[in-house]
Order: sequence, then structure tokens, then C-alpha cells
Amino acid sequence: MAEPSPDLARAWHRALANVRHELSGPAFDLWIGDVRPLGYRNGVVQLAVPNPFVQELMQHRYAMALRSALSQAVGEPLEVEFPVAEAAPERPAVAPPAAATLFGEGEQSRDLDFASAPLNGRFTFDSFVVGPSNRFPHAAAQSVASSPAKDYNPLFLYGGVGLGKTHLMQAIGHRVKELDPSARVVYVSGETFLYHFVTSIRENRSADFRRWYRNVDVWLVDDFQFIASRERTRTEAEFFHTFNALYETDKQIVITSDRPPKDLLVDDRLKSRFEWGLVTDIRQPDTETRLAILQKRAAEDHLRVPKEVLMYVAQVVRESIRVLEGALVKLVATASLMHEEVTLELARECLKDYSTGDRSLDVTTESIRDAVARHYGLEPAALQGKSRRQEVALARQVAMFLCREIVKTSFADIGAQFGRDHSTVMHACTKIGELVAGHDAEVSAAVESIRERIDLYGGG
Ligand code: ADP
Ligand code: MG
Repeated sequence: MAEPSPDLARAWHRALANVRHELSGPAFDLWIGDVRPLGYRNGVVQLAVPNPFVQELMQHRYAMALRSALSQAVGEPLEVEFPVAEAAPERPAVAPPAAATLFGEGEQSRDLDFASAPLNGRFTFDSFVVGPSNRFPHAAAQSVASSPAKDYNPLFLYGGVGLGKTHLMQAIGHRVKELDPSARVVYVSGETFLYHFVTSIRENRSADFRRWYRNVDVWLVDDFQFIASRERTRTEAEFFHTFNALYETDKQIVITSDRPPKDLLVDDRLKSRFEWGLVTDIRQPDTETRLAILQKRAAEDHLRVPKEVLMYVAQVVRESIRVLEGALVKLVATASLMHEEVTLELARECLKDYSTGDRSLDVTTESIRDAVARHYGLEPAALQGKSRRQEVALARQVAMFLCREIVKTSFADIGAQFGRDHSTVMHACTKIGELVAGHDAEVSAAVESIRERIDLYGGG
């Protein structure tokens, strides 16, 4: 086929410049340099790829992003196709692939050198704060670490971004190595697995690939979802074989993902294998856990932050733990730049982007539960417990009422929070509503004062 017209080459450059940062990762960086714009016909841009593996990768991982970037660059909607070029295409004039950073410092070589990515020294069990949102996965991880391939194999952890999946997974790796320094622990992200696999094919080193991946005692696969795609890819098939080989020889497998097995775009055989072991999720931490994490972090890093400020941060920053830690760092850095103490005042100013202004968006049923418990001098857990003591029952009803009023959650969701059914919640809301409307002095005062607390702090 003819050389790409200069315009197409330019458009491709521009498109790449726009999406590179978004798509960048070992697999993308390695292969994108081999993709070459061939031609443009009837609204379809042909991007030549050197082999079916790169074709697969491009089609299933990057096609959408590349299509929209190219459309933008050209200024009209386009489709993209990835024909396999007969001869290996010459290297196009786009930037060379970034170094495969996972394989050692600044190494530029394209030779495949299998290696486990290093474990982060901070991601240990000691630095992991346990709370209701992660108690179960934490216990499972400890059990796996102390007796691999016994109770839970595979262990499948899932949950949203920044909630501690990688931390917990690496804590397993650290503990296994502590207990048995000769154990072969391999930590690899889904993306790196794909990269290893595709590269091993390209370099004719499938045997090395298999030897390396099958000589593992504890296999930690982080962010598995990267391997999953709607199409049954060869990477997925290879993962399946690797999984089976390790499982059958009693090796421990731990997998994390952003979603549960049933929602992954993989073959049912693989889903069912994931469910052979234990599937458990890490959830958003509640305010108490967020506070404990901040306290631990502040202590580890020798940060002098008053408890009331930590409390404020824990209440305002309700996103992931990664964001929570980021907020603390930002606060401390700001204080130090301005040669100021870390005060509540400074925290309010510094973290104002984290709170939405509309408190009702920030307030959660759990923060209401906490605020009500505090008002009545009870443990938050008591409101979720079975106690029918009059005082506890009243507090619980007030909490349900406020959840309905402020967060506007469904009766069923409120019920789930307090371990009660939908009709109990409805009854509570009606009853407290009537008491407030009838100016029952005690209940009205309580509701009033709890509302104030929530307006001020978002609960807690
Ligand atoms: P994920 O892999 O789920 O996206 P990470 O494991 O990378 O999340 O966690 C994000 C950050 O939050 C890390 O710095 C981690 O140490 C911290 N973190 C997460 N959960 C906890 C916890 N329970 N205790 C202490 N730190 C935590
Ligand atoms: Mg992670």
C-alpha cells in the first residue's frame, strides 16, 4: 500500500499525542510504535499492525480511544481498522515506546526479561487498618499468607479504585516471604501479564514464558480486569492454562479486580474457577476507619496534625483511601509552605474542593448513624444491633428518620444499614415525623441538634 499521505501522518501524530498519557502502560507503550497509519478510505483509517497479537490488543483495548482521538485530529467522525501488514512495517516516525519500566530501572531493551514487579515496602499487614469495610478480606488475606493453598484458593479480592486491594495483596506477598524466604512470590498486574505473553510470542519465547509462570509458589495477579475483554483472547486462554497449572500443583493464587467474577468479560470456565475459592470485596471505609487510617499515616510519617483536624479530614473526604491520603499530604504540605500550624481553619480552607458545598451530598447514612449515636451517648454499632432497650430503639428510629430526610435513601437501603426490614423503617419514619410535627419537646430538640451537628461536620 502507498505511503500514508502527510495529512494522515500528521493526524496520527496529533491523535497519539492526545491519547498517549491516557493509554500509556507497558503493553501500549511497547506496541504503539509498531502501529502505522496506512491509508484512509471511505471514512475508515487503516492502521497497520505487525501481527495478530497486536491486532487483538489494539482492537480490544485501544480501538475506541484511538478512533475518537483520530476523529478529533481530523475533525470528522472516523472508523479505524487494524489490518495485519504482510511484512513487518518499518518503524514509523512516532516516538519510540517508553521504557518498559516494570523491568528494571530505565531499561530500554525490548528483550523480554521476566520479573516480578517489586513489592511496595509500605504495603504490609502492619500498616493496614482493619475496619468493617475490609475485615473479611483482611482475615482471608492473613489466612492465605500463613498457609498458602490451604483454605482459600484462589482468593479473589474486588473493589473500587484506591480502597486497598493492592496493599492487601502485597501484604500477603511480604508475609509469605517472611515466613519462607525461599518461596517464589510473583506479583504481576494483569497488564504486565498481557505484556509478557504478547512479547513472548513476538520473540518466540513461549517456552520461557511458561517455564517462568509455572514455577511460582504464590501468584499475585493485580487488576485482573485488564486481561478480560469481550473477545476470547489468546491472553485470556494463556491465563486460564497458567491458572490451571498452578492450581493443580497446589500453588496459591490471589487475584484482584475492580469487579466481581460474575461481571468480568471472561469465559464462564474462568469465572467458575475464580469462585472455587473465596470471593470477597473491599468496600468504602466508614468515617471511623478513615480516621484510623489517617492517624496511622500521620504517625508513620511523623506528621503533627491535631486529632480534630484528622477527624475533619476523615469526615469531609469520602472518596477512596488514596484520595484521603492525598488530602492529608496536601494539607500538611500547605501548612509547611505557609509556615503555619495545621489547624481546623487551614483544613477547611485547604480542603474546600473536597466538600461539595451541598452538605446533603456529603452526608451518608453512616455519618448520620454516627451523629445520632454520639448525641445519645451510644456506640454506633448499637443502632445496628438487636437491642430493644427503649433508649436505643428511639435513637435508631431518629437515625432512620434523618437518613430518610437528609440522604433521601430508600426504606430498603436504610433498613439494610440498620439491620431492619423495609416496613420497620417506614414505621420509624412515620412515628418520628409525627413526633416532630406534634412538637414533642425531647424528640424535636434531639433532631434539631443532630441536624446542626451534621450541617457542621457531615456527621460523626
Ligand atoms: P487499590 O489497589 O484498591 O486501588 P491501594 O491498595 O493502592 O488501592 O490503596 C491505595 C492507598 O490507600 C495506598 O496508599 C494504601 O496503602 C492505602 N490504604 C488502603 N487501604 C488501607 C488500609 N486499610 N489501611 C491503611 N492504608 C490503606
Ligand atoms: Mg491497585
